Amino acid sequence: MPKSDQPINPFETARRQIDIVADLIGLDSGIREVLKHPKRELTVNFPVRMDDGSYRVFTGHRVQYNMARGPTKGGIRYHPQVTLDEVRALAAWMTWKCAVVNIPYGGAKGGVVCDPKHLSHAEVERLTRRYASEIAPIIGPEMDIPAPDVYTDSQTMAWIMDTYSMLKGYSVPGVVTGKPISLGGSEGRGEATGRGCAYVIREASKDVGLKVKGASVAVQGFGNAGSVAANLLYDEQGAKIVAVSDSKGGIVKTDGLNPHAVEAHKQKTGSVVGFPGAKSATNEEILEAKADILIPAALENQITAKNADKIQAKIVAEAANGPTLPEADTILFERGVTVLPDVLANAGGVTVSYFEWAQDIQGYYWALNEVNQRLERTMMKSYADVHQVATERKVHNRTAAYVLAIQRVVDATRLRGIYP
Ligand code: NAD
Repeated sequence: MPKSDQPINPFETARRQIDIVADLIGLDSGIREVLKHPKRELTVNFPVRMDDGSYRVFTGHRVQYNMARGPTKGGIRYHPQVTLDEVRALAAWMTWKCAVVNIPYGGAKGGVVCDPKHLSHAEVERLTRRYASEIAPIIGPEMDIPAPDVYTDSQTMAWIMDTYSMLKGYSVPGVVTGKPISLGGSEGRGEATGRGCAYVIREASKDVGLKVKGASVAVQGFGNAGSVAANLLYDEQGAKIVAVSDSKGGIVKTDGLNPHAVEAHKQKTGSVVGFPGAKSATNEEILEAKADILIPAALENQITAKNADKIQAKIVAEAANGPTLPEADTILFERGVTVLPDVLANAGGVTVSYFEWAQDIQGYYWALNEVNQRLERTMMKSYADVHQVATERKVHNRTAAYVLAIQRVVDATRLRGIYP
């Protein structure tokens, strides 16, 4: 495994994870090679007219990693550091995430190398529409369905949906998810990731022997996923939120914070920092806070070999993608900490994206409580499946989730056979 201070090629990590699971379940070299290669990759270089009349050429990728289980699904990110290997890794991880929650999708991911902070709204719109038209031959409701990711949002999805619809000559809402509700978005999508995370924590706590009612919770990253998870644990399960943070710093209050009041303070001031009655803390202190449940909901590579033995929580629920390094996983497992891995703990988002797509292609929309009930069923079943594999094989939950996911992809591949 790479050391935490060395640069990590995410695709090498993704392939190493496949090898670990393939060894564990005894996969032959042929199927292993299939799993270690992206099925389809498209790189496009395309010009965009800038506001000052000049042209700039941007590079974008779309990788469809594996489609054995259905059309591929995955977000599009706009970031200066996007690379093809990063997009490949993210597409592989989407394949496993969709398989863990057993929704009928393969995995994909897209990215455009750009810095949206230095582009105007109109430039981002033109870039999005041109990128969408460049990848149009390989996306579609039956083929590959993009969604928002880093620095893309519901407006970006509305532009992609419109561009694709213009090329087709009719409206195709099911080509993307994460759309505004007025264009065929789903009720409940906005809070689905945090809600799914709260359900999985509830289920895991029963196996850990922890009562969520009264349990203390620390949240690193009080954004969309983190604040929703905190609010729901507080409102619906009676948990005590003792520490939260954002990019500006953290706050701690051992007798409990009202997360709604913290959210209002963050909306007013731009940060959780300075919340009346709470002590300031660094992000490191939030991770190591005295709490029963820790929710990393901000960035990758937060729990490392250096701090894993200082984590006090009994449950670590990864709302963020990739917050725990592999060597830290082993330390936490050996210390008896239950880690709910990202492919399970934040899969509520892609699950409700799947519901959005299902509603779009039926042309029939569900009420919020129906969306939430279906999400709850999916998360409960997925947690139970992962827990069963972990118990049977005596491995930690991340390995168990990968075993479950990769086995499902392998089963689909074997049943379909190798063409011709
Ligand atoms: P967001 O931008 O709404 O929230 C991120 C939060 O993290 C913000 O409050 C930000 O201030 C904070 N943050 C940034 N740097 C930090 C730092 N160094 N220390 C502490 N906090 C810091 O984003 P989000 O949608 O909530 O996504 C958060 C994580 O969840 C990401 O890893 C994302 O990939 C993952 N995720 C989100 C969804 C979703 O549907 N929103 C789905 C799956 C996974």
